[in-house]
Amino acid sequence: MGLTRRADDEWYAGKDGKSTLRFECTQCGACCTGPEGAVHVNQREVRMLAKHIGITAEECIDRYTHMLPEGRSLIERETAPDSGCFDCVFLDRTSDPQRATCSVYDARPTQCRTFPWWPDNIKNPSSWRRAGTHCEGIGQGGYVPIEHIRVQRNAQEAAHPVRRGS
Ligand code: SF4
Ligand code: SF4
Repeated sequence: MGLTRRADDEWYAGKDGKSTLRFECTQCGACCTGPEGAVHVNQREVRMLAKHIGITAEECIDRYTHMLPEGRSLIERETAPDSGCFDCVFLDRTSDPQRATCSVYDARPTQCRTFPWWPDNIKNPSSWRRAGTHCEGIGQGGYVPIEHIRVQRNAQEAAHPVRRGS
């Protein structure tokens, strides 16, 4: 898939290199938990995670991933029996009682690094509004530079050409 876009695809383009989209992560952790979903990983991302944790890629695959119809994903753990709420296996709720944090932050998958700038989230104004119902950082902070959005969107497309949002 080509990564170039026509300018009119970028409905959110603003002035002076900025977009009309505001975002600032509050580190609420909501994007790492919720209904059953997927955190997709490719081979390169598995190797990064394995190196970060200090295990082999094969061990990383066995312990922390499973196959879904659309590809390999990190596993999740239900926060309480029949709660319907699933944490990413790397979400750490104990180290800091005030916050849920990513225990593999420096090696987190592209899907996590590029959120919320996934193609599905920025497709049109309603998809952006919908993303904002799950992420409290959307609509907060300053207007994000358009180049930053392009880089993140393209990185997500390159790592995982066909993905759904969580
Ligand atoms: S849901 Fe949004 S604000 Fe909360 S941690 Fe994820 S990106 Fe940040
Ligand atoms: S790898 Fe880290 S950032 Fe990504 S979903 Fe899991 S806990 Fe969240």
